[in-house]
This record gives sequence, structure tokens and C-alpha cells, in this order.
Amino acid sequence: MTSAVSDDADVIVVGAGPGGSSAAYHCAAAGLQVLLLDKASFPRDKICGDGLTPRAVAEMVRMGVPIREQDGWIRNTGLRVIGGGHVIELPWPELSSYPSFGLARARMSLDHLLVEHARAAGAKFQERTTVTGPLLDERTGRVIGVQAKVAGQDGPVTYRAPVVIAADGVSARLATGMGLEKRQDRPMGVAVRTYFRTPRHDDPMMESHLELWDGKPGESDLMPGYGWIFSLGDGSANVGLGSVSSTAAATTVNYKDLFAKWMANAPAEWEFTEEHQLGPVRGAALPMGFNRGPLYGRGLMLVGDAAGMISPFNGEGIAYALQAGRVAADSITQSLARGTAAGRERALATYGTRMKDDLGGYYTLGRVFVKLIEHPQVMHLCTRYGLPRPLLMKFVHKLLADCYEPHGGDWADRVIAGLARMAPAA
Ligand SMILES: Cc1cc2nc3c(=O)[nH]c(=O)nc-3n(C[C@H](O)[C@H](O)[C@H](O)COP(=O)(O)OP(=O)(O)OC[C@H]3O[C@@H](n4cnc5c(N)ncnc54)[C@H](O)[C@@H]3O)c2cc1C
Repeated sequence: MTSAVSDDADVIVVGAGPGGSSAAYHCAAAGLQVLLLDKASFPRDKICGDGLTPRAVAEMVRMGVPIREQDGWIRNTGLRVIGGGHVIELPWPELSSYPSFGLARARMSLDHLLVEHARAAGAKFQERTTVTGPLLDERTGRVIGVQAKVAGQDGPVTYRAPVVIAADGVSARLATGMGLEKRQDRPMGVAVRTYFRTPRHDDPMMESHLELWDGKPGESDLMPGYGWIFSLGDGSANVGLGSVSSTAAATTVNYKDLFAKWMANAPAEWEFTEEHQLGPVRGAALPMGFNRGPLYGRGLMLVGDAAGMISPFNGEGIAYALQAGRVAADSITQSLARGTAAGRERALATYGTRMKDDLGGYYTLGRVFVKLIEHPQVMHLCTRYGLPRPLLMKFVHKLLADCYEPHGGDWADRVIAGLARMAPAA
């Protein structure tokens, strides 16, 4: 380990999205000196669906983030799935491990709230600071800090810490700078979204459209992708669509065009029209199924999208980024309490093992799922014949939302937990 005298912090966290803010919060709460860096000036936008499942809510509760309705949150009670001529409402399950409600909040506001929460716990936050690469120990090749450019300052700046967390999102600049390229054999999603002022702003359910039509629903052609409408309770809703491919190869779909066609056929009373649109349609990639690793090596930890932690089942990434930040913080806190370099390294390495033990098998199942649904015929059959079967849908809902009891529970929980345990870790 480098001498504490020259270090700027016990841990440097690069990126103040949910993953970085969670890591910074948990490290600071454990008494560590944290330097959290972000290239943006907050509040800043992030292209996202803004939906939080019960799994994400549980992480927010662990962080002590205020999530009462009077704090400006809209709660959702479950998922409405539309496809194959069916409309199915699936309430979030009653479980011991997770609450039975989800949340939604525009990322502009959510990420600001989380970063302020980390600051309140004692993390030092420095925005408008673009990390350009790792600072390496010449002798060992270990990461001992970062190089950065601070807006308004001439020349590069160096920050030092014994451990660095890369939570810099899908661009994964820090990991790439260490030669950690994304895996080609892991699923990659692409999605676009915008906001509308709409009477649907306080729908108590998240809505998912498994079929997108290029004309009148049921009487036109199916387009490749799935859509969502997530109500934000503030007069607006986040509306978007995307698709997923089982490899990192880019799809040739024009998503903005697809979106325009979907909107042109949306019911008039939803008011998804140009005059009610708030901001442009913007898109981004969704790296899935642990598409970059190792999760820890040579003083660098990858958290959230930087490690491709989005679920291949449903495109959810906030819950996993928050979880990874928490587990990373715990490993770092444990490591800094150890007396030897070997002991510290052993503690840091537990981060990767814990994340893979928890999610590896589940993500392997998710990769199989993506391989199936990327064939439109399979998807079509599943929506047509699967959706009207309540028992099957109860199972599928728990599986896709990663909302099952890891131990015990009902038959669906036990089947999913068993499959996830049997599947080789991703
Ligand atoms: C269209 C779309 C819809 C989605 N919908 C949902 C959804 O409804 N629910 C859900 O759970 N997930 C959703 N996701 C996934 C979710 O957005 C991500 O998984 C999540 O944001 C990952 O968090 P993160 O902290 O890893 O990275 P990010 O949120 O991307 O944060 C990374 C941070 O790093 C900063 N940064 C980047 N590079 C540097 C650098 N070089 N130096 C300093 N700072 C840097 C950025 O400014 C940013 O603040 C969606 C994704 C997309 C694209």
C-alpha cells in the first residue's frame, strides 16, 4: 500500500451516479475519507427509465435515503404488462427480503439526492472533474490514484488513494485505461427515452409494452423492441423503448424512428404528442451480465455499469449499482482495518466473489433468456400464450424483476433460487 501521508483519501470514487454515490456513502458512513469525483456539474441528467424496483428501494432504505411520499416520491404497486392482446397486472410480491412497492424519480433529481446523501455522510464531492486515467505505481502496476482535469484549471491534476472505485458508467474510461475491455459474449441493450406532460403521470403501476406496432395495434407490423411508461407523479411520465442483443454487436435498429412510430399510434388521451414532450428523445447503451471484469484487481474496483451490471432480464441497473457500491465499500472498509498487505488484498478480493455469488448464476440465466427473446417468434409465442397464465406469470414476474426470496419462500421463489444456484456464475 502507498504511504498514507501522500494520499488524498482512503478511497477515490470516480463517477457520482447511483453506484458511485452508494460506494461513497457507505465508505463515509464507515468513517473512511472519501473523494468522490464527477465530470458533470450536478444536478445533471442521465438517460434512464427512472424506474426503481423493490430491490432498488431496499438499497435506498439501507442508505437511509428519505423515500416517503411527502418527500416527493411516487410509489408504484407493481407492473402492468401489455402484449398478445392481453393486459396483465402483476403486483410486487409480498416478500421478507424486499418491500412490496417500487419508486420512480427523474435521474436529474435522484442522482442529486444520492450525491447529497453521500456528502452529508462525510464524503468530499468534487464535480466538474474529468478523470482521464489511472495513476499507476511504476514498480507494481497497481492503481494508486487517478489523473484528472478540473474545469477551469490548467494542466492535469493527480489524486492519490490506496483504492480506486471506477463507477464511471457505460463509458468505463478508467477500466478501459487499464486494458479491461468489454466482453463480446455478454448481452448489450440499447434504449431511448423522453418525457411527456401527461394525465397518466400518477399511474400507480409501471407499464411495460412487450409488442410495439408500426400502425394500429394488432393490425400492423411488429417492430423489434419493448416499450415502457413510468409515471413520475409530478405531471410527467418517462416513456421509452429499447431492445437487447445477446452479444455486444451493435443492432442496426433506428430507435428514434421506432419511438416516433410508437408514439404516433399511442391513444390520444395519453397526450404523448410533440407539444406535450419535455426534451428530446435520447438514447444510451445498457451493458449487461457482468460484461467487464475482473470486478477487483490491482487496486481498482468496478461498480455498476462500468462492470456491466445491468440485469439481462429487464434492463434494470440502479439496484445493482447501489448494491455493488455497498459491497465494494464493505470490502474496502474491512481491508483498511487489516495489518498486512496480503490481508488487505484478501479483503478487497471478497468484493468480486460476493457480487458473483449473489448475481452470477442469475445473470447466466438472463443470458439464456436474452438468447431466446431475441427471436421475435419466441417472444410472440410467449406473450400470446404465456401472459394469460396467472401462475406462470407470477413466476416470470419474480424472475424478471429479481424479486424472489433467496431462501425459503413459495414454490416460485424456490425454483428461481435453485436455478440461480445451479447455473454457473456469469
Ligand atoms: C434508456 C435507458 C433506460 C434505463 N432504465 C432504467 C430503469 O428504469 N431502471 C433502472 O434501474 N435502470 C435503468 N437503466 C440503467 C441505469 O441507467 C444504469 O444501470 C445506472 O445509471 C448505472 O449507474 P452507475 O452509477 O453505474 O453509472 P451512471 O449512472 O452512468 O453514472 C456514471 C457517472 O460517472 C460520471 N463519469 C463518467 N465518466 C467520467 C470521468 N471520466 N470522470 C469523472 N466522472 C465520470 C458521469 O458523469 C456519471 O455521473 C436504463 C438505462 C438506459 C440507457
